[in-house]
Amino acid sequence: MARAVETPRSEDKLTRQREAVLQVIRAREDHPTANEIFQAARLNLPTISYATVYNSLRFLKEAGLVHEIKFGDGASRYDRETDRHDHAICNECGKLVDFDLPQTAELMQAAARKSKFKAASVHLTLKGVCPDCRAT
Ligand code: ZN
Ligand code: MN
Repeated sequence: MARAVETPRSEDKLTRQREAVLQVIRAREDHPTANEIFQAARLNLPTISYATVYNSLRFLKEAGLVHEIKFGDGASRYDRETDRHDHAICNECGKLVDFDLPQTAELMQAAARKSKFKAASVHLTLKGVCPDCRAT
């Protein structure tokens, strides 16, 4: 793709760094933390700083390219899947996996009726012990 001649060099660099951060998230299905993304991005871009990764994550989130997931006071996790879906999180190892159930829309309507809220979104979090941790 042709690059605009007037694009400043610093912006090129920023774009490359954001791209590297996005690639890390898209290559993984494990919902990495900012620190895990930083460690992985450094393998491809050794000069990248944690601050740049953090700023890139904010940019990518605002652009709707990744989702940030917050659970209580734990570190935010980043998700390549931006369509609505739910998560199961392991209490032992922190593994975070996706799930989606056909009953969720119905559940949201029932919750809206019960609370008298006008529903905007729903996000289910199943907390428990993952198959790997159960096996040990
Ligand atoms: Zn586990
Ligand atoms: Mn997810």
